[in-house]
Formats: sequence, structure tokens, C-alpha cells
Amino acid sequence: MNNIFDAIRGHVTAREAAQVYGLTFGRNGRALCPWHNDTHPDLAFYGERCYCHACHEGGDAVALTAQIFGLPMLDAAKRINADFSLGLDMDALPDEKPRVNRAEEQRKAKSELQRRWNFLCDIVREADEKLEKMKGWDEPMFTTVLAARARADDELNLLWEVLCDARRA
Ligand SMILES: [Zn+2]
Repeated sequence: MNNIFDAIRGHVTAREAAQVYGLTFGRNGRALCPWHNDTHPDLAFYGERCYCHACHEGGDAVALTAQIFGLPMLDAAKRINADFSLGLDMDALPDEKPRVNRAEEQRKAKSELQRRWNFLCDIVREADEKLEKMKGWDEPMFTTVLAARARADDELNLLWEVLCDARRA
């Protein structure tokens, strides 16, 4: 058994947690989403997990239960363990592992984006320096350098949006 969250996911699906914890289901088989102020059921269930088609939140039974009751993940896991009589030994298992890893993953992703950002800025700056030294657009390398600069600039614009999203998260 890897950890308590994997163990619970193997026993209880997000749909089962939604049913037992009283989420309102619509005729489309979806439930009212606890992540946003849902007025018609947007929370769909796929295998072990759920996914909200309106706010794009979702996750497994533990994530859903944590959201429904405003609990930390480990407490949500304990609650499922008790309410579904799973009998898992919660104390013998490492705690909060997924949350620590998720933060670590986010940090790595951000620093990767930052590295890419710096790399692209160097390309643009070098291209500008080259273009400045050139006598005009009829020089052989002019369009090549200009195209490389444009590509880097396009990617910088995309990265900018991603970095803004990451900062808001
Ligand atoms: Zn939602």
C-alpha cells in the first residue's frame, strides 16, 4: 500500500462519496458541484474521480470529501475510513504526502517556466543586438534573425499568461 490516499481511492469512488455525503444529483447523473456555487449539476463522475465541467475542479473521493466538509485531506481520508467502515490503519501510514508533493511539483513547474522565460528573453535580446548591427533588411541573415525573434516573442506572450495564472493559483 503506497499511502492512505491511494488506499482510500481503491475502496471508495468520488461518486460513492458524493452519494453518501448527500450531494444533489440531477437527471444527467451529475451532481451539484461543491467547489463552486452550482445551480444545475455540473459535477460529472469518471471512474474513481469527479470533474466539474463548469469550474474544472475535481478529484478523487478524498478531495471531494475535503471540499464538501472543508476538511484537510488527511482528515477527509479519516472521515471516509470511518464512515465507510474501511478499517484502514490511519496511524501506520505517512500523512499528508500528496499535498507536500503537489506543492513541490508546482514549485518545480514555476521554476521551469522561469528558466524558459529567461532563455527566451536572451534570444530576443541577442536578436535585437544582431539586427541593430545589420545594415538593412537585404542582409542575408536579416529575415532568419527576425523570424527567430518573432517565434521567441510569441512564446513569451503565451508564457506570460501561464505565469500570471500560476501566480494567481
Ligand atoms: Zn464546479
